[in-house]
Amino acid sequence: MKCRHCHERPVSRSRGLCWKCFYQPSIRAQYPSTSKFARRGEGIGCIQAPLPAFPTTAMPGTPAKITVLAERARLKQSLWHPEDATDVSPASSVPRAG
Ligand SMILES: [Zn+2]
Repeated sequence: MKCRHCHERPVSRSRGLCWKCFYQPSIRAQYPSTSKFARRGEGIGCIQAPLPAFPTTAMPGTPAKITVLAERARLKQSLWHPEDATDVSPASSVPRAG
């Protein structure tokens, strides 16, 4: 099988590309992964998305938090802000048996 881009060299890398084409970022970007395991939803993956402008006070698992996450995904922002509200507090933390 020949490379999807240059149609000259044999496929030796993922995305149906040859070694030379795969390691040129401008070429690789033109060919999305062909793996069924690489299909991911918005906001999930290894691409570093920009942080949301503001943290949310919506608690995890609530419909309000889901709405916030959907909006962040729509804006192609990171789903999580380091200052988002969490349900971890001294009063709610449970000591773990170990
Ligand atoms: Zn090639």
